[in-house]
Amino acid sequence: MNICPRCQVRLAVVELEGVPLETCDRCAGHWIELPHRLKQIIDARKGRLSPEELAEAIRDGRHTMAIEAVRENLPCPACRGAMEPFNYGGDSGIILDKCHRCGGIWLDAGELDRVHLAVAASDLGLEQDLKRFSGPLHQVEVREDALEQHALRTTTTPLVTTHHVVDH
Ligand SMILES: [Zn+2]
Ligand SMILES: [Zn+2]
Repeated sequence: MNICPRCQVRLAVVELEGVPLETCDRCAGHWIELPHRLKQIIDARKGRLSPEELAEAIRDGRHTMAIEAVRENLPCPACRGAMEPFNYGGDSGIILDKCHRCGGIWLDAGELDRVHLAVAASDLGLEQDLKRFSGPLHQVEVREDALEQHALRTTTTPLVTTHHVVDH
C-alpha cells in the first residue's frame, strides 16, 4: 500500500495514456514506480500540441514551477526512504522527486504537464524559448537588462558587471 508523501493518504491506481500509475485523490500528485513509464506517458502525448499551442504555453510560463514547491526529502510512497529532488532532463528546471532505493518518481500536481511541455519544446527545437521564458525571475532580469541598457545612454552604469575581488 503506497502513501501520498504530502497528504499521507492511500494512493489510487489509475491509468494515464494506457500506462498504470498511482495518484493521490487529494493533491493530484502522481507516483510512478518504474521510471520508464513516465517516458511512455510523455511519448504517448507526443504531437498532441501544435507548435503554436506549444509556443503559447511556454510564453504563458505554464511549464514553470514555483521554487518554494521544491521540498527536500519527501518520504517515498513505497519504501518510506527519503526521496531526492532532481532536475528532469538535466536542466529542464522541472524538479521531480526520485527514490534512489526503489527507483520510483513522485510528481506533484501539474508536473506531468510541465514535463510534457518541456519535452515537446525540446523536440521542436524550442529550448531557447523555454529557457528565455523560464520563469518570472528570469523575466525580471530581462526587464532589468533592458532598463539598464536604456539607462546607459544617460549615465555611466557599466555594461558588464565585473567580478569583485576582495583583498584582505
Ligand atoms: Zn496527496
Ligand atoms: Zn522508495
